Amino acid sequence: MSVEVVVIGGGYAGLGAIGSLQEVPDVHITLVEPGSGHQLIPELPEALAQHGLVSNHLVPYDQLLADTGISHICSRASSIDWDSRTVSTDSGQQLSYDWLVLASGSDPSMPPIPGLRQYGRPLRDAADAGRIKDALRYQKDQRIVIVGGGLTGVEVAGMLGIDHEVVLIEAAPRLLPALGKGLADYAFRRLQRLGVILVLGQKVQSIEPHLVTLERDHYGYDILIWAGGITVPTWIHQLGLPLDSRGYPKADPYGMVIDHVFVAGDLWHVVVDGQEIAATAQVAALAGAYVGEIIGHRIQGVGNESSFAPRLRGMLISLDPGQGVGWVLHGGIPVRGMSARTLKALSFHQYRLKLARRFAKAWPMAGSE
Ligand SMILES: Cc1cc2nc3c(=O)[nH]c(=O)nc-3n(C[C@H](O)[C@H](O)[C@H](O)COP(=O)(O)OP(=O)(O)OC[C@H]3O[C@@H](n4cnc5c(N)ncnc54)[C@H](O)[C@@H]3O)c2cc1C
Repeated sequence: MSVEVVVIGGGYAGLGAIGSLQEVPDVHITLVEPGSGHQLIPELPEALAQHGLVSNHLVPYDQLLADTGISHICSRASSIDWDSRTVSTDSGQQLSYDWLVLASGSDPSMPPIPGLRQYGRPLRDAADAGRIKDALRYQKDQRIVIVGGGLTGVEVAGMLGIDHEVVLIEAAPRLLPALGKGLADYAFRRLQRLGVILVLGQKVQSIEPHLVTLERDHYGYDILIWAGGITVPTWIHQLGLPLDSRGYPKADPYGMVIDHVFVAGDLWHVVVDGQEIAATAQVAALAGAYVGEIIGHRIQGVGNESSFAPRLRGMLISLDPGQGVGWVLHGGIPVRGMSARTLKALSFHQYRLKLARRFAKAWPMAGSE
């Protein structure tokens, strides 16, 4: 009889885990995922640009998983019984597992700012991108306020700054805390040159229809995009797993939370040598592949496992369709301008190619431009 592995979430981490588990003999994999396509989330800011299309950034699961033997349950996992090792879904299925990977990603963090939930539009997935896209007019008299000067906020400001009036608000005194100051200053200058109004060092106090109030200023807006970080989804909190001080499932250095249950991706708050590893698609894909391998080792009874310590190949941020900033080669080399943008585009292509290879699919797949 085959070993049953259930993977919850078909994002970067879930597909990374499946990629590794496919190598393990006598394993049957079930993916529980409500969406019809794998969302290439880091590409979504591009979908917001005038000629972008959200559908170009989705790879259909029926195509990806065809002829792989992997079952796709197109539903949302809603609860898990740890004693009987059963996952229940929104559509009423009960799925037994021997091993489980929780890779359902994160939710936008929405602090209790008056008006935020009513008027702020998060950008966390393809559905959010579709809703924002529907509201965009691509005219300079439409003002977009973006709150959050991290990776997402900066990329969206760059993509929308060409065709709209954009105001980017960040509570910290500088943009892009994940990058060194020199690179963050470059991003600042680049966005300024594009005409983006940059407001640093002020927190949002309240949001009303068409007016956002900060500590000292206020700005009118037509669309307010909230890019204020991520948090653990509520349904994960309700599972009764041990949680760390930030509310993430408390995992050991191998990603295991309780016996036979692992986390990966945004849900795994990874700390290596006392240093927090930022939640990115790159880390999610590596964590998923790693957790899949660990499960494979344990199924086959082979040992010699080393704990998860991702080696990052770089961090690249688009500043507009032609410019970018970041670093490559394990933190060694800063890159700016067209070369950074080209490397970022190349990394998107590499990921798609890797997917095609991992699932033995012809290139280009649907969803590939
Ligand atoms: C706008 C934006 C830009 C970004 N840009 C970059 C970038 O340039 N580079 C980078 O490295 N990272 C970037 N990131 C971060 C990156 O997208 C995430 O870190 C990454 O997607 C996390 O992967 P994951 O597999 O954990 O989650 P996801 O990729 O979000 O996948 C989670 C999946 O789980 C599914 N799911 C959710 N709930 C359930 C449930 N209850 N049951 C079953 N399935 C469920 C969802 O439908 C989804 O398909 C960006 C993020 C955003 C929002």
